[in-house]
Amino acid sequence: MNGKAAGGDEEEYGRIKGVHLVPEEELYTSGHRTCEGCESALTMRQFIKVAGPRTIVTGSTGCMYVANTSYMSTPWEVPWMHTQLGAAGPSAVGTAAALRALARKGRDSKEKVNVIAFCGDLGGADMGLSGISRALQTDYDLLIILYDNESAANTDIQATGLTTWGAQTTFTPTGTVDRVNRASMRWKKNVAAMLAVGHPNVKYVATACATYPPLDYMNKVKKALAIGGPTLIHSLDPCPKGWDYHPRYSHELGELAIRSGIFPLWELTNGVLKYSYDARKSRKPVREYLESQGRFSHFQQSDFEYVQSVVDEMWEEWEVPGVLPLRLSAIKSVK
Ligand code: SF4
Ligand code: MG
Repeated sequence: MNGKAAGGDEEEYGRIKGVHLVPEEELYTSGHRTCEGCESALTMRQFIKVAGPRTIVTGSTGCMYVANTSYMSTPWEVPWMHTQLGAAGPSAVGTAAALRALARKGRDSKEKVNVIAFCGDLGGADMGLSGISRALQTDYDLLIILYDNESAANTDIQATGLTTWGAQTTFTPTGTVDRVNRASMRWKKNVAAMLAVGHPNVKYVATACATYPPLDYMNKVKKALAIGGPTLIHSLDPCPKGWDYHPRYSHELGELAIRSGIFPLWELTNGVLKYSYDARKSRKPVREYLESQGRFSHFQQSDFEYVQSVVDEMWEEWEVPGVLPLRLSAIKSVK
């Protein structure tokens, strides 16, 4: 992962250096019906603050569609389109292609229009993965934001490929025979790294959390839009309903996820990797993060130890810590 960090210069994309410099204009306003403490709503609010009014947003089915577009009401102050559950990628490509066609015909203004497509973990990392992959192989300017609340939350908290190992969901309840449901015994899909490594033409891929470190997510959105081409941000969004905690602790849970290292925070700019929080240097025990959520209330000592051991392995043994689970030293060539 070496190369020139073109477009990665902080001055070049106008990094927001203080909270007082965050745009005041609200383009995701009142009128939504997300739960109290919903971090995905914050993810929406912050990206459109940074992107500004000259933005077209497409959103695939999920909480941020259902809760945001009740009949005749919406919080979006910019053009917004609902698209099918797995269609974040294709809807972004179609919108960007239409803008390019208008430009070719001289029927738009010269000022850039941002195209942002959002999708949930089910819609993006499971069902819509192929469509996102295709979008990342185009040369259109588009940003895909995968907001990850670790469940299909709008249909009552079913497990997805991004749900944490062992979590209780309506698909993976605890039971008397299997305390940890067998279907929940797989590690969270490493989706951002998979998409970054699989699409070397993409100039910017990042993971993020809307609250920690402060301003980090908004600056990543700003940077992705400035760099251009197809780009992707995967955000971890604590969800009080699905994760079962008091809504007042959403921010704390996001911070704990990052500082425990269970959700690695990084950005890849033109092949150059930078940790936004380097969990190799210090990590909080992951137990603190897990014990704060009701979905892990069935965990026993061995479960905490197992999750901690995989987090430690990610940071201490992976060839690219927290990002790529390769062990290059173990590769043998055929003689
Ligand atoms: Fe937000 Fe979770 Fe409620 Fe959906 S279920 S609106 S993601 S808090
Ligand atoms: Mg979800």
